[in-house]
Amino acid sequence: MHTTNHESILADALELAQSYRNSKNARALKPTASTAELRAGFDIELPVQGRPAKQVIKLLDKAAKPGLQGNSNANFYGWVMGASSEVGIAADILTSAWGQNAGIYQTAPSAAIAEEAASRWLLELLDLPRESTIGFTTGATMASFISLAAARYEVLRRQGWSLHEDGLIGAPSIKVFVSAEAHASVLAVLQYLGFGSRNLIRIPTDAQGRIHIATLATEMSLLDANTPAIVIAQAGHINSGAFDDADKIADLAQQHNAWFHIDGAFGLWARSSSNYKALTTGIDRADSWAVDGHKWLQVPYDSGYAIVRNGTAHRHAMSISASYLNRNEDDGRNPSEYGPELSRRARGFTTWAVLQSLGSEGVGNMIDRHCACAKQLAKKITSIKGVNVLNDVDLNQVAITFDDGYNLPSYEKSKNADATNAVIDHIQQQNQCFVSGADWQGYRIMRVSVISDQTGPENIEQLVNAIRQAWSAVLSQRAEHMALAKCG
Ligand SMILES: *Cc1c(COP(=O)(O)O)cnc(C)c1O
Repeated sequence: MHTTNHESILADALELAQSYRNSKNARALKPTASTAELRAGFDIELPVQGRPAKQVIKLLDKAAKPGLQGNSNANFYGWVMGASSEVGIAADILTSAWGQNAGIYQTAPSAAIAEEAASRWLLELLDLPRESTIGFTTGATMASFISLAAARYEVLRRQGWSLHEDGLIGAPSIKVFVSAEAHASVLAVLQYLGFGSRNLIRIPTDAQGRIHIATLATEMSLLDANTPAIVIAQAGHINSGAFDDADKIADLAQQHNAWFHIDGAFGLWARSSSNYKALTTGIDRADSWAVDGHKWLQVPYDSGYAIVRNGTAHRHAMSISASYLNRNEDDGRNPSEYGPELSRRARGFTTWAVLQSLGSEGVGNMIDRHCACAKQLAKKITSIKGVNVLNDVDLNQVAITFDDGYNLPSYEKSKNADATNAVIDHIQQQNQCFVSGADWQGYRIMRVSVISDQTGPENIEQLVNAIRQAWSAVLSQRAEHMALAKCG
């Protein structure tokens, strides 16, 4: 057996972590190694006798670094990803060192009470009903899973059906109304919960990706009084940042006794800013909300919150009962009553620390800064010929297309997908900023998400320059191509 010196292994790891974070703006924005190279680094022989711990950590660092994604960099705008704040990382290190199992209060009292306190702050910041209960999850996907499991339990209970005893087989059929542009994770979760895709009522959307309310009203008017129903809306569309009209949807949900769930993975945080809260009117009328900690709040991965107004439905949908899980009267909460896991990481510590570090104004100021950056970007680039912003930039997302007006036959089909892809490739190769693409409403878009805690106006200037430069390089390539096509 190797004798291990914990102190120095942890010190080594901290030094490596610090050096990675220090090189934040100099290091690669994207992985530099190929898949094969990464395999060569990781897929080494499993030793019969373990290696010394110090060597293992060194090997891990060496194998991982070339394949690390640069989402903690201030110039990273790909997908919609958080940047892991330093205080969050520090709290995460302590969480690992303490090694708590946050299943129940008795196995991890501090973890349970940290969750209680963080829950209260989250409800205040997001200004959601204070009686709501919160499950600390791996992300918004699991948060929607828990919320919709509570929904499923409750809408059946209202019809006198016990999900626990009778299960889904033979249960009254539940109608689920969901946007045609719902996030893929919501559709996946509905499948996990036993709602087949054919049974969903998909509601068409407008040019910003918002649910078409008149159609939803018509579809819901076909419900009879005894049909259990769930309606799902979005706060912060992945491409446009748009919000469904929660107030009108809440009216409809109320009218039809339906459970109203909101996927607000990143957009829900607009509620923490007095400047952007108006976008979210009516959102507090829902029954449940899914929101991420690891995106806009910058809690290190993984972190999300399932927020459910009806705590009884929440606990009934998730509780595990066993004699050893009992609580004493003055115990704090049992974290496992609010999610599907029993043994799990003490996720509450990190959220607790990040919220204490930002403060309520700090969260709102970060939202304000990122939204102002997105507007700055949109304004600057729309003055460039051939560059179009497809969305109303009300939040932090910018959906951009590129159109050189040539309409070469191969470009027509997907409305200049080739030009847009070429710009994205060029920017990724230049490696000054990172952007990624998506398909939206028949277009190929370059999607910019301003969501990294360090990003500010000067980073946006760099991005504007990168876009300008890439677009002009792509244009000259394409002009050449066009000339050749004419000659040929
Ligand atoms: C990211 C995202 C999700 C999924 O959240 P995870 O944290 O990845 O599980 C769901 N909905 C929206 C709108 C998102 O942006």
